[in-house]
Amino acid sequence: MNNKKLQLWHKILIGLVLGLIAGIIVGPGITVLKPFGTLFINLLKMMIVPLLVLFLVAGAASITDIKKLGRVGGKIVGMYLLTTFIAVSIGIVFALIIQPGTGVEIEKPAEVKGKEAPSIVSWLVDIVPKNVIKAMSESRVLQIIFFSLFLGICLALVGEPAKPVIEIFEILSQAMVKMVHIVMEYAPYAVFALMAWVAGKYGLKMMLPLGKLIITVYLACAIHIIVVYGFIVKVLGKRPLGWFFKGGANAMAVAYSTASSAATLPATMECSEKNHGVSKTVFGFSLPLGATINMDGTSTYQAICAIFTAQLFGIDLSLYHYMAIILTGTLASIGAAGVPGAGLIMLTMVLTAAGLPLEAIGIIAGVDRIMDMFRTMTNVTGDMAVTLAVARTEGELEELAESAAS
Ligand code: ASP
Repeated sequence: MNNKKLQLWHKILIGLVLGLIAGIIVGPGITVLKPFGTLFINLLKMMIVPLLVLFLVAGAASITDIKKLGRVGGKIVGMYLLTTFIAVSIGIVFALIIQPGTGVEIEKPAEVKGKEAPSIVSWLVDIVPKNVIKAMSESRVLQIIFFSLFLGICLALVGEPAKPVIEIFEILSQAMVKMVHIVMEYAPYAVFALMAWVAGKYGLKMMLPLGKLIITVYLACAIHIIVVYGFIVKVLGKRPLGWFFKGGANAMAVAYSTASSAATLPATMECSEKNHGVSKTVFGFSLPLGATINMDGTSTYQAICAIFTAQLFGIDLSLYHYMAIILTGTLASIGAAGVPGAGLIMLTMVLTAAGLPLEAIGIIAGVDRIMDMFRTMTNVTGDMAVTLAVARTEGELEELAESAAS
């Protein structure tokens, strides 16, 4: 293939595979490359708050129909919840079929302290920030979404005099899009460094004892991506699946290598806008929200790890246990932050609720990153699929261009 014809997503995938190979061959020594990956993650994180504020304010200010905003929001949240529920159920089915916890030799792990389930009321109240600047400095996505949407709506209410301000927000958001574009050019090298680091650090040997668990998580997430998102994209979004994956490949690869939905957000937004043709009014709201509350891969993982724990310790699960796993698995994925390892911390909540031993956390932690990468990729793909489908039903999706489909 001619080098000049390589598209960015080709280069990112090549970086991913080469990094993996280099890490396996070179071993732990290759972890010196990690700063090249960290640099990329920092660049992505740097853009999150400005992207959110500018897009959401400009997006909300341009909405003339408040009813529509409510309807779109309802559809997005409803689909996020439904897909998460399906994901937990798929996780349970796969864990029961593959039985990742049977026949595993374990050393006695350290004791782990559980995390309490957050109260839903205080979680909701907390969405309203007491201090906007503090919310921004701490990258509190839900709080930023709340304030930015509110400000955008108020700018629209001010009317004519607010027009120049809205225009400034729009121009600045265009500048942010350019910035994301430039940063993404560096992605193939960063992805190489991150993959080499992971493969060099963990190696194949370390993964073997828990290989069945890793395979269960990968398979369950892959089926969820193909079947559930396949349905959403094809039936609700009326778009070809291959086209959807090709357009989302950059974000998926960045998610896989960084294991952070929040850090991937700039890449996800770029894919939805440029490649999938979703309008700013929909993705500007649904993707930041999705990166925070929609984590299907994480919920699948919670269910699998809970059942893994029961199998490992020879505990029989009753219907009550399964109900607890489904409920807390869903809540834990909503509550998990979009950062590496958040799902593992939230797992303590699921295990506590289901009355399972927390010692399993120590065992899972050793290989958590490997599973984190795939579940994060699933999380991000889910955000893009739901965004595309909701945009299509609202007439906020560009017609399929020939060039995009090829
Ligand atoms: N790393 C995941 C994410 O950012 C969260 C998790 O640990 O499951 O989406």
